[in-house]
Amino acid sequence: MWDKKIAKITIPTPFPVGDVYAYVVKGDVLTLIDGGPKTEEAKMAIETGLKELGLQLNDIEQVIITHHHPDHIGGVDFFSLDLPFLGHVNNQRFLELSPDFIAFNHEFFSGFLNELGVPHEIRSRVGNIGRLMKYGCERTLTGFIQDGDELPGLPGWKAVETLGHAQSHLAFYRESDGALIGGDILLDKISPNPLVEPPLARGEERPKSQLQLNDSLKKLQNLRITAVYPGHGNIIENVDELISYRLQVQHERALKVKAILAQKPSTAFELCQTLFPKIYKKQLGLTLSETIGQIDYLESLGEIKGEKTERGMVYKG
Ligand SMILES: [Zn+2]
Repeated sequence: MWDKKIAKITIPTPFPVGDVYAYVVKGDVLTLIDGGPKTEEAKMAIETGLKELGLQLNDIEQVIITHHHPDHIGGVDFFSLDLPFLGHVNNQRFLELSPDFIAFNHEFFSGFLNELGVPHEIRSRVGNIGRLMKYGCERTLTGFIQDGDELPGLPGWKAVETLGHAQSHLAFYRESDGALIGGDILLDKISPNPLVEPPLARGEERPKSQLQLNDSLKKLQNLRITAVYPGHGNIIENVDELISYRLQVQHERALKVKAILAQKPSTAFELCQTLFPKIYKKQLGLTLSETIGQIDYLESLGEIKGEKTERGMVYKG
C-alpha cells in the first residue's frame, strides 16, 4: 500500500536472491522504479501488485531503473514501448548487448581470468551475459540520469550515483523526508556482491568494484537517510549503523585474507578456493568477485603486493 507516495510491489525471481521489489512512486508522473525479471510469474506479480493499488500496467507513465541486473529490468518489457525508460548511461551497453560489446566482454574476461590464474576447464562459468539475454529486457534507455539530477516528473527526488555492485547503479533520494530507493546498494541481511565488470572502454583499467562500493556507502552516510527501500529484504531504518557495520565486517575479513596470504602467497583463484572451498565451483563468478574485492582493498591499503608469475598474479601479505 502507499506509504508517503511510495508503494512496493513484490516480484518473484528465478535467482537465489529470492523476491525483488519494484516501487511505484507518485509525483507529476506515475513512475515505476525497477521491473523484476522477465518471467510469467513476474508479470502476474506486477499486475497483481498494481491492481492492489487500483492501477494497471498502462497507468505507469515512466520507468526508471537502479541498475541493469536482470532481476531489476526484465519486467520493463511488460509495459508500453512508448514509455520513457531512464537510468544511468552505463546501463546502455548491457541493454544494447551489441556484438562489439559481447566480444569486448569476452576478451576482457579471458585476459582477466589469466591474471587470476583460473584453470581453462572452468572458465566458461565467468563473465557470462547469457542471463541478461534470458531474463533481461529487450529495450534500451530512452534517456539518462546522472548523479545529482532531479528525477523527471518526481520533484524533490534526486539520483545518487552508487557504483560498486554494478557500474550502472543509482539510488534515488527524497531530501524532504530522507527516503532512499536503494536498489541493491544496501540490503538488510546480505552485502551486495562487488561484481567485476569490464571497463567502459577498451584499454582502460578495470573498475575496482569493492572500493567503489565502500565509497558509495560512505557517500550515503553523508545524506540524512531515514529509510532505505531496498531491492531485496526489509526496509532499513538504522542506515548509518548498518553501513558502519558493513564497512567494518569487510575490513575485518580483509585482514584475515591478508593473514592467509602472508602464510601462503596465492593467485586470486587459489585464494578463492581457500576462502570458499564448498561453493567456489558452483558460484565461481560471485566468489571470484568477492575474492578480487578483498585483494583490491588490501592492495589499496598497501597491505599486500602482487607479482606477475607464469600461473597469474601471485599476491603476498
Ligand atoms: Zn543487482
